[in-house]
Amino acid sequence: MVILKTNQLKKTYGTGETQVHALDEVTIQIDEGEFIAIVGSSGSGKSTLLNMLGGLDTPDSGEVIVRRKRLNQLSNDELTIFRRRNIGFVFQNYNLVPILNVYENITLPLKLDGIEIDEVYFERVTKKLQLQQKLEQMPGNLSGGQQQRVAIARALLTKPAIILADEPTGNLDSKNSLEVVALLKSSAYDFNQTIAVVTHSEEIAQMADRIIRIEDGKVC
Ligand code: ADP
Ligand code: MG
Repeated sequence: MVILKTNQLKKTYGTGETQVHALDEVTIQIDEGEFIAIVGSSGSGKSTLLNMLGGLDTPDSGEVIVRRKRLNQLSNDELTIFRRRNIGFVFQNYNLVPILNVYENITLPLKLDGIEIDEVYFERVTKKLQLQQKLEQMPGNLSGGQQQRVAIARALLTKPAIILADEPTGNLDSKNSLEVVALLKSSAYDFNQTIAVVTHSEEIAQMADRIIRIEDGKVC
């Protein structure tokens, strides 16, 4: 089943000589449960694409459809709620709330939505990400790899349509990088969770079910 698709996404920055086609008619489709790598050199348009898929940025033309909703038809307020319920973000710098402990960070999106925590799923997720002994800790006391596992748990817990991870291993050493990606991959399988990971690492890309390659804003 298709969970996300785009139709001819275009995004251009600047004008004249300095114009950059960050996205040039990008049409892709992602199935439920797929673990996708989005690969391309620096400046090829990977982050621009991911931000469009997650409704963080809007295209000049074309559309993004997630769980049959056309994102461009939502108001700003509707988009904020849609994003919270349907998109999980994992960033290079983890983006945890420093004054909240691990448990509070992981459950924050559900709290904001007034949704009750599925304790069974919470146990499964925190066990898988080896966070059960860390729930009381503050993010500042965790290693980079641990912080990224918290961010992944937070993304998983809302059962979003898709988790979008932009260079999630950019701040990690190679051992922690492979571990984090292996966890993302097995989370996709264990929880039937659709995940797209942006990377410029071929080694990481090879772990994916499918690779989407992008160069100069075009899928190739
Ligand atoms: P990647 O993530 O693959 O490194 P990006 O999607 O960040 O690439 O950027 C694609 C292209 O668009 C690059 O040439 C970049 O310089 C340009 N770009 C991205 N965001 C902006 C912006 N806000 N203003 C101007 N140019 C931008
Ligand atoms: Mg980028």
